[in-house]
Amino acid sequence: MASIQRDYYEVLSVARSASGDEIKKSYKKLAIQYHPDRNKDNPEAVEKFKEAAEAYEVLSDDEKRSRYDRFGHQGVKGAAGRGGAQFQDVDEIFSVFGDLFEGFGFGGTRNRKRGGPQQGAHVQSAITIDLAAAATGVERDVTFKRKKTCQKCGGNGSEPGTTPETCNYCGGHGQVVQAQGFFRMQTTCPACRGAGQIVRHKCNTCFGSGLESEEVTLQVKVPAGIDNGMQLCIRGEGESGRQGGPRGDLYVDIRVKEHALFQREGTQLMCRIPITYTQAALGANIEVPLLRGSEPLDIPAGTQPGEVFRLRGKGMPDPRGGRAGDMHVEVQLVVPKKLDEEHEQALRKLAELEEADVHSHRKSWLEKLKDLITGDHEE
Ligand SMILES: [Zn+2]
Ligand SMILES: [Zn+2]
Repeated sequence: MASIQRDYYEVLSVARSASGDEIKKSYKKLAIQYHPDRNKDNPEAVEKFKEAAEAYEVLSDDEKRSRYDRFGHQGVKGAAGRGGAQFQDVDEIFSVFGDLFEGFGFGGTRNRKRGGPQQGAHVQSAITIDLAAAATGVERDVTFKRKKTCQKCGGNGSEPGTTPETCNYCGGHGQVVQAQGFFRMQTTCPACRGAGQIVRHKCNTCFGSGLESEEVTLQVKVPAGIDNGMQLCIRGEGESGRQGGPRGDLYVDIRVKEHALFQREGTQLMCRIPITYTQAALGANIEVPLLRGSEPLDIPAGTQPGEVFRLRGKGMPDPRGGRAGDMHVEVQLVVPKKLDEEHEQALRKLAELEEADVHSHRKSWLEKLKDLITGDHEE
C-alpha cells in the first residue's frame, strides 16, 4: 500500500532540537522493541526496525542531519534515490550499528545464511500534479522500468542446462568479514557480489544477472493533501528479489505545481484579494475564490490594507488525517488609476470633508511639460 515516508524525528519520537545522546537513546529503545529476534514472523516490526535504523543513520550524523533539516528527505537521498541509508536487510543494519546492541543479549552480527534470498532493489519514479488534484487526492498512472526475474534462466543467471558454481572467495556465504582496527565489518563478497555462486555459462538473455528489464504502468493513489517533495512508498513494486527474496519497493516522488492564485504552507493556503477604499471603510461582503468554488467573506467597516482574514478549514486537507488547514485572505487596497467625472467629484467632496490637501485639478499636458523642465514633476 502507498504510504508517505515519515519524518525522521517523528520516527525516533524526538524533538527537532534533540541532542545526539537523546537520538541514540531513542533509537536504541525502538531497535530493541522492534528487534527481529523478539518479533518473529512480524514483518511490520521488521519494517519499523529498518525505518528507525534509516532515521538514526541520518540524524546521528551531523552533516546528514543538517542537510535533512534544510532539505528534508530530498537532501539525504542515497545513490538509488532513496532518503537515508539503503538498508536492504536486517543483517546490514547489524553490520553498521551492531556495537550499539552489545549487552542486550542480541548478537552484534547475526548468523544468518549468506547468499540466500535477497530483497530486490527499490525503484524510483515521479508524478507531477496541480494543487487542485493535491487537495482532493487523485489516481495517476505511473510508468517506470524495473528488473524482473529472467524468464529464460529462472533468475539463476546460468544458461539452461548448466549450473552455477559455489564461490571460492566467500565459500558460498556471499559475505566476507574485514577487520579494521577495533571494527569488524561485514561486507558483500566482491567476487560473487553476494550471490555465493559464480556463473560460468551465462544466460544469453540476462547475461548472468538473472534479471531482465520490464516497463510497468501502475495506477497510484495519491492521498488528498499531499505536498510537494513528499514521497509515496508502494511496497513490493520494486525489482524482483534474488533466490526467492521479496521484491523491492517503488518510491514515487510527488511534485505539486505552484498555483497562480494560492500560496501554500503545509495545510495552510494564502491568497490576496483586492478591495477598494470604500469597501475597506464601509465594510463589504466579498467573494473569496477557493480551489473548488468560492466562499463569501464579510469585511468589517474600517478594515486596514494588509489585514488577514481566515476561512477555517478551507485550506488543504492533512494527508496524515489531521485537521484541514485554513484559507488566509489578505486584503489589498486598490486605488483607481483613472477616474471619471462623477467619481472624481465624489472624491473631491470626500477630500473636503477630510480637509485633505489634494491637487486642485488634474494637470494638463502643458503644465506637466513645464514641471518636467523645472524638475518639479511628481512621480
Ligand atoms: Zn563470493
Ligand atoms: Zn537469464
